[in-house]
Amino acid sequence: MTDKISIVGAGLVGSLLGISLKQKGFNVTLFEKRKDPRKTEKYKGRSINLALSRRGILALQSVNIFDKIEPLLIPMTGRMVHDVKGRLTFQPYGKEGQCINSVSRGRLNEILIEELEKSGVNLNFDHQCETVDIENSTLGFLNGKKEKSDVIFGADGAFSIIRKHLQQSDRFNFSQHYIDHGYKELDMTPLNGDFAMEPNSLHIWPRGNFMLIALPNQDKTFTCTLFFPFEGATSFHSLMNENGILSFFERYFPDVLPLIPDVAEQYQKNLTSSLVTIKSCPWYKNRTLILGDASHAIVPFYGQGMNAGFEDVRLFTELAEKMNWEWQKILPAFSSIRKQDTDAISELALNNFIEMRCHVGKTDFLKRKELEAKLQDAYPKDWIPLYSMVTFSDLSYAEALRLGKIQQKVLDEFLYEKSENLDFEKIVDRFNTLKKAG
Ligand SMILES: Cc1cc2nc3c(=O)[nH]c(=O)nc-3n(C[C@H](O)[C@H](O)[C@H](O)COP(=O)(O)OP(=O)(O)OC[C@H]3O[C@@H](n4cnc5c(N)ncnc54)[C@H](O)[C@@H]3O)c2cc1C
Repeated sequence: MTDKISIVGAGLVGSLLGISLKQKGFNVTLFEKRKDPRKTEKYKGRSINLALSRRGILALQSVNIFDKIEPLLIPMTGRMVHDVKGRLTFQPYGKEGQCINSVSRGRLNEILIEELEKSGVNLNFDHQCETVDIENSTLGFLNGKKEKSDVIFGADGAFSIIRKHLQQSDRFNFSQHYIDHGYKELDMTPLNGDFAMEPNSLHIWPRGNFMLIALPNQDKTFTCTLFFPFEGATSFHSLMNENGILSFFERYFPDVLPLIPDVAEQYQKNLTSSLVTIKSCPWYKNRTLILGDASHAIVPFYGQGMNAGFEDVRLFTELAEKMNWEWQKILPAFSSIRKQDTDAISELALNNFIEMRCHVGKTDFLKRKELEAKLQDAYPKDWIPLYSMVTFSDLSYAEALRLGKIQQKVLDEFLYEKSENLDFEKIVDRFNTLKKAG
């Protein structure tokens, strides 16, 4: 296959796409505005670590590089919920053996770039794309260079320049929504040479309108992230001076304070970043396609942004194979088939923020989770909890969302009865009936 392919963005998704297309025999060139992260300071991205789960793993396996990533992973088998008194409750994510995995964003990206280089992809760092001539499939760069290709992929993230050019074309839909909360990362160093907290969990401090989470790193540190409103009585805006920050942590996160003694300094020094949902459609025009965050950026509360972007790459490649790499058919087909899934995960991610910051510590939520676990044990083929469908399966996000809504309706109906002896068979029958009804 001799087609010349240009990819803009050597982040997580663009790099994986480059590997996949090169393996299919294309002539692939990648352009990245940053310097080569392997030769510069460690990557200073928006989040230091990420949760990699089944969809991402399947995509990495599809290009045979998961064995290179696996040694970087720290499995997290459940949520460790910290209440305001510092008491801990562990909530498993799924069944035994199921976990999500904390991975360094920087190392993951570096390994993908190493693989690109080994496979012979033409890599161009320090190349900031500025223009796209969509009719002639030609990219223009800040350094004056121009590049004509047979196909262009924009994997240049949430603020994609390629999408901005698509936006200028007729009938292109676009929406962008910032939530009221932002985030700030804080580092928790090791304690006596070891992890300061249990390492195989995702730690959560749910506090109603805000929350703190922590994911482990291989150097025995934790990256903590405070998700906090920008404005209001208790917010980034109101909390600025050292005394205020310390008394806030003392009140809401008393068990964190001794583990991050320089919390006030870090809080004042570290960036506050915003969180955005971006939707667009169609993702293509002529021979240019956007994917990953460039076409569908989501809030991070389901830990699925990268996983969804990696899944884009796997599904795109599979579809293209089936369609014999006929670009003029594949680009519109992929855009229309995949869009409903990314809309679904976008909705799920927003809902999960409320679940994480408000519900995970509450008795009702725990009862529901317990009931769902029992239903799954009794009817493993019929009842798979929503979190498991999203995180531990490759069922389409749209179908997971649909089934999740039916499960919620059915549980609401049965829990309303407040009967001590719930009839599991009846619950599952009702679910299956509604599921078939469509
Ligand atoms: C706080 C936070 C936590 C998250 N946690 C998770 C998680 O646990 N699990 C998960 O699955 N996802 C998570 N995500 C989402 C994840 O980070 C993104 O979905 C993922 O990085 C998207 O990858 P991408 O390659 O599409 O975009 P990006 O990672 O943004 O990469 C885009 C690349 O394009 C380059 N670029 C941009 N513009 C240009 C240009 N004009 N010319 C050339 N190059 C350009 C950039 O330098 C960058 O390298 C999180 C996100 C945030 C903000």
